[in-house]
Formats: sequence, C-alpha cells, structure tokens
Amino acid sequence: MKNFTSLSEIQESIQSGSVSCVSLVEYYLERIEKHKDLNIYVDVFADEALLRAQNIDKKIQTGSAGKLAGMVIAIKDNICFEGHKVSAASKILEGFESLYNATVVERLLNEDAIIIGRVNCDEFAMGSANETSTYGPVKNPCNPKTVAGGSSGGSAAAVAADLCQVALGSDTGGSIRQPAAFCGVVGMKPTYARVSRYGLIAYASSFDQIGPLSKSIEDAALITEIIAGKDSNDSTSSSEPVASFSKSPVSSEKKKIAYLKEYIESPGLDPEIKQNFLKLIDELKAEGHAVEEQTFSYLDVIVPSYYVLTTAEASSNLARFDGAHYGYRSPNAKDIESTYKLSRTEGFGDEVKRRIMLGTFVLSSGYYDAYYTKAQQVRRLIQDRTEEIFNDYDFILMPTTPSTAFELGVKNEDPTVVYLEDIYTVHANLAGLPAISLPLWNSSQNMPIGVQLMASSFKEDDLFAFSKLLMNTSR
Ligand code: GLN
Repeated sequence: MKNFTSLSEIQESIQSGSVSCVSLVEYYLERIEKHKDLNIYVDVFADEALLRAQNIDKKIQTGSAGKLAGMVIAIKDNICFEGHKVSAASKILEGFESLYNATVVERLLNEDAIIIGRVNCDEFAMGSANETSTYGPVKNPCNPKTVAGGSSGGSAAAVAADLCQVALGSDTGGSIRQPAAFCGVVGMKPTYARVSRYGLIAYASSFDQIGPLSKSIEDAALITEIIAGKDSNDSTSSSEPVASFSKSPVSSEKKKIAYLKEYIESPGLDPEIKQNFLKLIDELKAEGHAVEEQTFSYLDVIVPSYYVLTTAEASSNLARFDGAHYGYRSPNAKDIESTYKLSRTEGFGDEVKRRIMLGTFVLSSGYYDAYYTKAQQVRRLIQDRTEEIFNDYDFILMPTTPSTAFELGVKNEDPTVVYLEDIYTVHANLAGLPAISLPLWNSSQNMPIGVQLMASSFKEDDLFAFSKLLMNTSR
C-alpha cells in the first residue's frame, strides 16, 4: 500500500478499485502492530474499524458515502468517543468510558470517517514532550531516541509513521503545532471558538482548541472545515460562517508578512532553525511578497503569563477529578476526605499536581491580583499588539519551536526548561488566533524543522491558501 499524502489520492484509488476502506484499515492495523515499540496507540478499535470499513465500502458502491469515506483517523486520548475508554493519559481516569461523542467525533463519523484508535498524549495535555503520560513517552518515528513532542505526541507520531491518515489533537499552548514540527507533519490550531470543545477533556478552557495533524494542507483544511462551526453544546463556539477551506486555491496574491525581531534574536533559537527561517524570508521577498520586521516586546512575559493563566484554569477544571465522580478511587480511602486526598494523590502525576498547586496559588486571595489579574492584563497587551500588527499585515511568520526534537529523558529535571519549548507557540493561544505549523525543512541531523504561520481571527482560509504556496514551492 502506498503512503497516501491526502484523502483525494485515497478516494481516486478507491474509485479505480485499487484500494478499499477494508484494505486501508487492514494496512494500518498491520503497521500499528509493527510499530508498537513507538508507544503511539493506547487503544486500537480493530474489529469495529473493520466493520465500519465494510459498511462504508458498500456505501461507496451505492454512491451514498460521506465526504470522509476512506479517511482513517486516530484521536488524542482526551477526546470523547462514546462507548470507548478515554483517560487523558492519566491514572485518575483509569477505566473510564465516554458516555457521549465529542462534537468533533460526531461530525467526523457523520461524514464516514473511520476512527481506528486513541493515541497517547501528555497527562491532561500538560507537557511538551509526551513524557508526562501514564502510558510512558511516545518515541519520535524520525528518530526513536528523541521525543515526539507534546502534548499531542501520539497524534503527530501516528501521522508521521503512517499509522493513520490524519489525527486529531488539541492545542492549549502549542500541543498540535510543536509535535507536528518535531515529527515532520502539518499541525493546525484553529481560531479560538472555531471548533466546539464539547467532549474535549478540559485543560485551560479559554485556550483549548481541537485541530488536525496531517500529511498535507489539503487534509488539514478538509478536517477543519468538517469539525468547525457553531455547536449548541458549546456556548463559546462561534457562529462565524465556515468556508470550504478544502477548496481554497493556492494563494496567488502577493502578501504582507511580518516577522518579529525579538523572536528571531532570541538566544534560545537553534542557529540552524534561524538560518532556514531567514532564508525563507529572503525567498519570499524575492517572490514579491512584502516581508518586514516588526517589534514585539512581550516575548519575555509570554511564557510566564501563559503558565499563570493556564494553571489557574486547570486547577479549577481538574477539581472534578475527586475519586467520587470519575475513574480511579483509592482503595485506601475510608471517608469522604481521604477519598479526595488519596485518589488525587495517587491518581495524578507530578506535572499535573505541580500545575494544580501553582494554579491554586495564583488564584488564592492575597496573590490573585499580583499573579492572575496581572497575567490577564499581559494577555490583553499581547492581544492588542498582535491585532495592531494584523492591521498592516496578512500573516505573522515565526519558527514553531526553538529546537528540533530533543532526546528522551534529557529535559526531565527542570520543568521550566520544558516550558520554554512553548515560547513561539503560546502566542497564538494567548491571542486566540489560528496558526499552522508546516514541515518545511530537515536539520543536518535529519530531524524535521517546522515553520509557523499565524493569521488574524477566523482567517483559516487565507492560512491554508498561503500554506499551500509555502509547501508547494520546494525550499
Ligand atoms: N506545552 C504546553 C503546556 O504544557 C502546551 C500544552 C498544550 O497545548 N496542551 O501547557
């Protein structure tokens, strides 16, 4: 079986009779088994996926199949799929089964996608290396000694290793884009509120967004188009109309693109990534685009404000995991208080506990104004300055990550070192804007390097069109 870049190639092969949904599912099941050592899937829905494939093959014959017929998808282990386990890679949700479908799952199934399994991630999506998972780390298919990135490490690795066609991830501070960059795939975070969060296990609700990881822009656009749009089950979801993103042509106009001085001059940026980035700027200028440097003086406060706000929201969101309502309950619990204390102590991992404590601290009376309120004010400044840039420019271009995938285990000692991995990705979440990571280059060590393109609110169509141009031109 060929490693298909996009669903349209698959559907052509289905039409010509060279593949079927069943043969595709069999192919992926075989590959999932063969690459078990990468620790990507935590659950494979083999029988069910095969059965569904048979049905969709019949529908294709009668001409009644949906838009996603032939699309085999993996979902991150924090997205609910009715009747299937979901754990957010945490012991505290051990044995828990989804009672309903996330809206994104419902919409994918309505278009005849096949969900083949759920994939590993950081515990409650907190992490940048997939090393906080209760299932252990995901290994990067490009070099198994290195991390796959996080928190949607399983989603990125599944696409990179061709263990599915597309995967869903979630992005609170870079969790789609950063692993996409580390594994060499496309990763798209839609505008905040573009995609319903109903059925996504919450981390930080004013930041979280679901989005696709894929091999092509075409597939990312198609999945975004299908999962986006108003949902009565999520009152924060936007009713902004959803264009046919998958039909957006390759951008042909000359664009105005900003890049941020402080981001490029940051001492943490790998020289090789910087070199590729600067070369791209020159190429774009040579192609006639207006590419200009802008200042953005908040780089130093971007990561701290992100961690104050997201931990605050997480401490409140994760209060519901108390040993009484969901999943794990400590066998040593004797009364209500010890049920809470022991279940949470034994059920949560270290990073999650650290964030709950930090979040509780920044929200506590006496410290609230000094931390939480201040971080909210910083968020506003970041949003205002970003909007100001978008008054004059179509896109902001930046690296996705300061480095390529690092070795497993090396950044375990000091959590703040890992937090700095998010330096270029949290911007889009703080500002609520759409951003995409594109696998444009490889390093001298042959590891993928991503570039990140950010657009103004609800401009996903422009983002896809220009991404196609960036990916089409050989760089
Ligand atoms: N690495 C970031 C964090 O740990 C982002 C996580 C995410 O986007 N879910 O918070």
